[in-house]
Amino acid sequence: MRILITGGAGFLGSHLADRLLEDRHEIICMDNLFTGSKRNIAHLMQNPRFEFLRHDVTDPFKLEVDQIYNLACPASPVHYQYNAIKTIKTSVMGAINCLGLAKRVNARVFQASTSEVYGDSEVHPQPESYWGSVNPIGIRSCYDEGKRCAETLFFDYHRQNGVDIRIVRIFNTYGPRMSPQDGRVVSNFIVQALRGEDITIFGDGSQTRSLCYYSDLIEGCVRLMEQDKLVGPVNIGNPGEFTMLELAEKVIHLTGTQSRIVYEALPEDDPKQRQPYIDLAKTELGWEPRVSLDEGLVETIDYFRSYLDS
Ligand code: NAD
Ligand code: UDP
Repeated sequence: MRILITGGAGFLGSHLADRLLEDRHEIICMDNLFTGSKRNIAHLMQNPRFEFLRHDVTDPFKLEVDQIYNLACPASPVHYQYNAIKTIKTSVMGAINCLGLAKRVNARVFQASTSEVYGDSEVHPQPESYWGSVNPIGIRSCYDEGKRCAETLFFDYHRQNGVDIRIVRIFNTYGPRMSPQDGRVVSNFIVQALRGEDITIFGDGSQTRSLCYYSDLIEGCVRLMEQDKLVGPVNIGNPGEFTMLELAEKVIHLTGTQSRIVYEALPEDDPKQRQPYIDLAKTELGWEPRVSLDEGLVETIDYFRSYLDS
């Protein structure tokens, strides 16, 4: 198949491109390189089945493709808050452009949604049936509400126009090819530890996240896309739940750093806890995560060590 990946030069998009090329597909990688980088796809540039298109997903595009994976959107709070209006446009207009293309060429279309649609959840762990507790006017809203609106658009195109959709709600995922400047917690802690800088915990570090390794996440996304029964939304994430203090201590232990932990102000609307309920993915996709946090952190630390050395 010929497959379009928007956001294909990002952390997850570039791993997805690798996976789909391994499966012998042709890839068109569309990215405006806001948070992604050519470095993530440099190894694919000479592959005759890979094509890079520098394009903004908010501008319309016409392509002949069989499938679309829509991943274009900054994912780190630092980057999505940098230009909040652009972030919401990316989610909403990007979804409209992908859905319009899918409708025209009869392609299956995938949306990279997020656990942020649950907001600061009152239900724990979060099942797909939970509608969420999201502040519509806060500093995270450009991302959370943009992704919620994208889900709405996906379902309306599905109901109204019969577009063949798939939606995954991604819980915090980490791994090699995150940018050292990304600003999310795993890359921040590792880069700080490797540079011997202070490790910045926001708040008292008691807030939790469930951290999934990228290879598990990609497998779940491809499984959803390659089956015909379920459109989603499906939670994909690792239910192992850790406080940010526990994460910092693990990173200190695994890197052997002399870095100290320092505490900084907790950002507004920072969710207190997050854990995916993954029974739907288990039963319908036969999927569950395989990589433990320690294994994933070791590989990610190796990646950043060689990145920083170079
Ligand atoms: P990332 O920032 O590395 O990747 C996003 C990519 O989208 C980048 O390459 C960026 O340049 C590109 N992009 C941004 N705006 C664009 C635009 N207007 N037009 C074209 N390209 C644009 O982040 P990631 O972690 O790889 O996230 C990929 C997708 O998965 C995002 O949609 C994100 O919301 C979603 N997601 C990720 C996580 C996670 O923990 N990694 C969690 C939930 C959802
Ligand atoms: N966090 C932190 N230190 C950092 C970066 C993040 O303590 O340097 C915290 C942040 O406040 C949040 C959690 O780690 O509670 C996860 O943050 P991230 O930005 O990775 O993603 P989120 O799940 O909040 O979107």
